[in-house]
Amino acid sequence: MSLPWILGTPTRPVKHAVKAKSGYTNPSWIKFMARRIHIIVAGAGAFGGWTALSLLERGARVTLLDPWGPGNSRASSGGETRIVRCAYGGDKNYTALAARSLTLWARYESRWKQRFLHRTGVLWMASSQTKGFERDSLAVLREEGIRCQQLSEKQMQRRWPQISLSGIEWGLFEPDSGYLDARSSCQAVVQAFIAAGGEYRQAAVLPDRLEDSPGKAMTLSDGSRLSADVCIFACGPWLGSLFPHTIGNLIQPTKQDIFFFGTPPGTSFTSESLPVWGDHRGHFFYGIPGSDSRGFKVADDTRGPRFDPTNGKRTVSPQTLRSVREYIAFRFPPLKDAPLLETRVCQYEQTPDGHFIVDRHPGAENVWIVGGGSGHGFKHGPALGEMTAKLILKDRDPSPIWRMSRFQNTPKK
Ligand SMILES: Cc1cc2nc3c(=O)[nH]c(=O)nc-3n(C[C@H](O)[C@H](O)[C@H](O)COP(=O)(O)OP(=O)(O)OC[C@H]3O[C@@H](n4cnc5c(N)ncnc54)[C@H](O)[C@@H]3O)c2cc1C
Repeated sequence: MSLPWILGTPTRPVKHAVKAKSGYTNPSWIKFMARRIHIIVAGAGAFGGWTALSLLERGARVTLLDPWGPGNSRASSGGETRIVRCAYGGDKNYTALAARSLTLWARYESRWKQRFLHRTGVLWMASSQTKGFERDSLAVLREEGIRCQQLSEKQMQRRWPQISLSGIEWGLFEPDSGYLDARSSCQAVVQAFIAAGGEYRQAAVLPDRLEDSPGKAMTLSDGSRLSADVCIFACGPWLGSLFPHTIGNLIQPTKQDIFFFGTPPGTSFTSESLPVWGDHRGHFFYGIPGSDSRGFKVADDTRGPRFDPTNGKRTVSPQTLRSVREYIAFRFPPLKDAPLLETRVCQYEQTPDGHFIVDRHPGAENVWIVGGGSGHGFKHGPALGEMTAKLILKDRDPSPIWRMSRFQNTPKK
């Protein structure tokens, strides 16, 4: 049996192995072949961790690398919580991906006997300023059979009197959505990966000559060299600096400030009484009511200034704090003078169109780039990992919506 990707530098390794022997189409053969493949995944955030686990579960040998650990404080997947929702305006791709992820989150929770998904519901407050996001979402959610409710202003006021609904005409409520534990779920994914036989190393891939000879042996921060049949780079906001010619400015890290406010005693501003919410009034504000007694989380989704994910100063801007305070005084009047308990600075890894990148490196077919979460990637981790693993092991091309060719006229520098 000839295994070309083991004998030499492969181009399209799986295609040569599986498709050339087209008689072998049964899943156990594909699994057997996949087991021979060694895959390196660089980056153990929401994208890399789930992709590594998914590849391992499908029989590949996988080495996962991360310099600072899954869900570390520099990573875009760091911090306590992330929103999970299926409403995506008229975009059926993301609605379907989020719905698949919800299924997978629940499946892994029950397998691991751990809880990460908190189904508090997600409330979208709709006004004439929302440019149809809620109306389009409602249509897609109904079409896809995802549970949702259209609420009148009166119904919302009865249910959540803590919210001042000034300027809000109606609401879209997703009862099965809510929020996810971020850092702890990234850690659980890597624990499961190791328990299932994956190799995890706390080391960085050095950028040296990565762009010039992608797919060749790479140097790690501990001085060792590593090569594999397939390499996946899921390094979030670091992808532009690792691949300056291929990615460069296509993924821009932007500074995002997060605030946690102290709530009055009791539960009226915790997730027992309030859902996760989103409000497109003016800027898009969103929040997660007091999870884990941490305080009322509020953030402005406006893309902040460019940010260095390794050495950037993680202190919030006074202007953003002022605008967030004005906002909560307007929308949640009892929190007008709420004390600021904690702050956090994270970074989005923003693509020009806000869509993810899942594609081969143009210079090496055995190198994949997975990233560009653009402020909404976390929830999709399980389904994106599953999709990426299938693409790689079945040697399929990604859908045009994920490919880098869509940016062919966008300057990378
Ligand atoms: C403030 C904020 C709020 C957000 N809110 C939501 C939300 O509510 N819902 C939602 O779905 N999404 C949300 N997102 C987006 C989501 O968190 C990200 O899109 C997602 O976590 C990105 O995951 P990633 O794995 O691509 O990147 P990361 O989590 O950044 O992972 C990349 C990993 O690569 C590692 N790495 C870096 N350099 C190297 C190297 N040289 N070699 C090896 N490894 C390396 C890093 O240590 C890191 O662990 C939010 C993001 C932020 C910042």
